[in-house]
Amino acid sequence: MTLNARIELALHNPHLQRALDANYTRSLEKRDLAMGALPNSALVRDRARAIRLEALRNLDQYLVQLEAQVTARGGVVHWAANAQDAGEIVARIAKAARARLVAKSKSMVSEEIHLNKRLQADGFEVVETDLGEYILQLRGDVPSHIVAPAIHLTRADVAKTFEEKLGLPAGVTPEQLATDIPLLTSMARKALRTVFVGAGVGISGVNFAVAETGALCLVSNEGNGRLVTSLPRVHIALMGIERVVPTMADLEVLLRVLSRSATGQNITCYTSLVCGPRRAQEPDGPEELHLVLVDNGRAAMLGGELAEALLCIRCGACLNVCPVYREIGGHAYGSVYPGPIGALVTPALGGMREFGELAQASSLCGACQEVCPVRIDIPTMLIKTRSLHLAATGGAPVWNAGIKMWSWAMRAPWMYRLGLRVAAWGAALLATAGPLRLPGPLAGWTDHREFPGIASSSFRARWAARQRAAAAAARAAAKSGERWEF
Ligand code: SF4
Repeated sequence: MTLNARIELALHNPHLQRALDANYTRSLEKRDLAMGALPNSALVRDRARAIRLEALRNLDQYLVQLEAQVTARGGVVHWAANAQDAGEIVARIAKAARARLVAKSKSMVSEEIHLNKRLQADGFEVVETDLGEYILQLRGDVPSHIVAPAIHLTRADVAKTFEEKLGLPAGVTPEQLATDIPLLTSMARKALRTVFVGAGVGISGVNFAVAETGALCLVSNEGNGRLVTSLPRVHIALMGIERVVPTMADLEVLLRVLSRSATGQNITCYTSLVCGPRRAQEPDGPEELHLVLVDNGRAAMLGGELAEALLCIRCGACLNVCPVYREIGGHAYGSVYPGPIGALVTPALGGMREFGELAQASSLCGACQEVCPVRIDIPTMLIKTRSLHLAATGGAPVWNAGIKMWSWAMRAPWMYRLGLRVAAWGAALLATAGPLRLPGPLAGWTDHREFPGIASSSFRARWAARQRAAAAAARAAAKSGERWEF
């Protein structure tokens, strides 16, 4: 399905529109309040950006330092050049652990490399334990937001899914279930407890990894992250190589802006620092810790025109504020990373030819850059992505022909003037039946907005008429002996 067809579907889905409307205002208000209450928030954001820039400028050095620190604490570091490598590494570790059941907490990188499918093909049962992801897995659905994956669903949708997949609790009606959030969460909790206890392998993402100490930082509002990283015998942490930060002090700065931008909280309910597998004297924790560093196109982005997108800390604020995302939701993008940042990351990682069109799904209003805690210049890179996509695809024939005609006409003034006249006549003709509707391939422009009518005479013609009138008035005044001043 094309991007335009997916957008059409989303815009004409009243259910989705209600779900999206219910979310975005609340998210933005909470983010604005939290950032507004952060002392010197502008300076903190500048510092956060400087930290991310430093990490990217010396990425090789920090990754090697991180590997040494993780290894020194008993962990094993694996380097995955691409999605296939990463999937094979994880499958190999899970087989060696003789696991059948795999418990997962939220990880965008695992979505990016389609890890669940890869593991399921090898016979593993993979269960998502983040509530939103769990709901989506039950429905056979995919995330539509990088922070709130089930944002496109309403409470009633969730109740219906639980009723169908987990069964209605005794003495509870479907109507009661649809209004009882604690009951819904307790149903998920009960189903997931057995997964945490029975899983041989736990897979998590990594929000940040600290090169100085080898600590893997996970932020979440659900306890599942801690259970996944401590109950199963083997913990596998998946991380995009750009998520390294130099020091613990740097981590503290990034955490200040991440939770405020993502959920409007000063700090999330759980901020976990995983520092290696269980030590002899410790009561809990996994016997093995594996960190998989996933490149999958990131190194190639460095030094390129979209490198700045690697500064992203995946807070999701640019999605919440984007007027396009708020109308079409995440699925319309047809990619793991939706919204303004997704329109940069997806083509950069997945291919400009295939995904560069996503950059068109933007009004270029700049709201994304305004809220971005690390001040990524998303609008400029969206424009760049549009031109890279054009270069990769050669452009649509109809537009290429139009631009060629325009360029030709602009080099011949008589042709330009003639063109304006023809356009004015044509516009007058088309507008006789009401607001101007453009024909053929241009019709999309006027499907949802009015096209300003082309003036019946051009600026040049009006200016010339005005000059002629002034000159005539001056001559008449001179004849009558009056003094005439322009
Ligand atoms: S681009 Fe900025 S606002 Fe958007 S998710 Fe990344 S860090 Fe957040």
